[in-house]
Amino acid sequence: APAPVTVTVTGAAGQIGYALLFRIASGAMLGPDVPVKLNLLEVPQAAKAAEGTVLELMDCAFPLVAGLEVFDDPTKAFDGANIALLVGARPRGPGMERADLLSANGGIFSVQGRALNEGAASDVKVAVVGNPANTNALIAASHARDIPAQRFTAMTRLDHDRAVAQLAAKTGAPVSSISKLAIWGNHSASQYPDITHATVGGTPATSLVEQSWISEEFIPRVAQRGAEIIAVRGGSSAASAANAAVEHMRLWVQGTPAGDWTSMAVPSDGSYGVQEGLVSSFPVTTSGGDYAIVPGLNISDFSRTRIDASVAELLSERDAVTELGLL
Ligand code: NDP
Repeated sequence: APAPVTVTVTGAAGQIGYALLFRIASGAMLGPDVPVKLNLLEVPQAAKAAEGTVLELMDCAFPLVAGLEVFDDPTKAFDGANIALLVGARPRGPGMERADLLSANGGIFSVQGRALNEGAASDVKVAVVGNPANTNALIAASHARDIPAQRFTAMTRLDHDRAVAQLAAKTGAPVSSISKLAIWGNHSASQYPDITHATVGGTPATSLVEQSWISEEFIPRVAQRGAEIIAVRGGSSAASAANAAVEHMRLWVQGTPAGDWTSMAVPSDGSYGVQEGLVSSFPVTTSGGDYAIVPGLNISDFSRTRIDASVAELLSERDAVTELGLL
């Protein structure tokens, strides 16, 4: 059997953590033959609840689980980590200004960046789920001087999956027939779900739907889906977020299928006019544990405006955390 892969999950006692850990332990992320060592990081006040999750994970008797440990010390939790899923974050509280939110999270993600730098495995792959995810990834990367910034990514796969599901529902086609949908920009309401390159059973998606549906229904529905789930379910979209985190990492490790891509927020290399270094969502292909931004796509005027608006928001978040001294 292959050597166990060490997977560190932060915010392990939270809702997403609860949905995520069992999927990882079952082999959904790394495959049915790869043993996993699960390191659960929590803040001290939630460590006991995380221990409770460990009891349940034990009781699943998952054959792939090679270790289960709870930590409240980031340096210990990330020691030897091959994969880090940074889920825990400070939610926006009542009366909290954006600067307060950015600074509370800056405190968390700078510490975690340094802890990763100290002890993570040389092949570490990091995915940030906790919001504001793109900027949290930027902060963590900037505090991990010896780890290439490209190993720090943020999750937009949930937005991608939501967009695929909406397009499938609209066209009556199975989700499996949809390829090359892309999420650009920030994991926020300003994101741009782009179907201009997408195909449905090989047919260009734009020939199957109206432009008015794209701009008035599809884009707002995908961007506001989190709020829709909260309104209908009475709780946030934890299970679908966990599923997307599994998919984000599964695809990064195992590769995207031929003829398709995924969406990931990654440090920009300047592609598509996105300022270098900003952690922004792009269509990416993955292979052999590496990813590459899909090159050479034609960007329509409509797409350009949408991408620029979301990137402007990322720039203002970066400016705010720079001013706070968090980078
Ligand atoms: P959740 O598990 O529901 O959410 C965790 C984070 O994921 C939040 O930042 C949330 O953002 C974000 N998120 C991203 N996409 C989605 C989505 N589609 N739906 C819902 N959330 C999404 O939060 P809980 O409050 O249940 O749990 C958080 C846990 O993290 C707590 O147990 C806390 O103790 C822990 N924590 C751990 C830290 C650490 O390990 N050092 C640091 C800080 C917290 P949003 O707020 O926008 O919903």
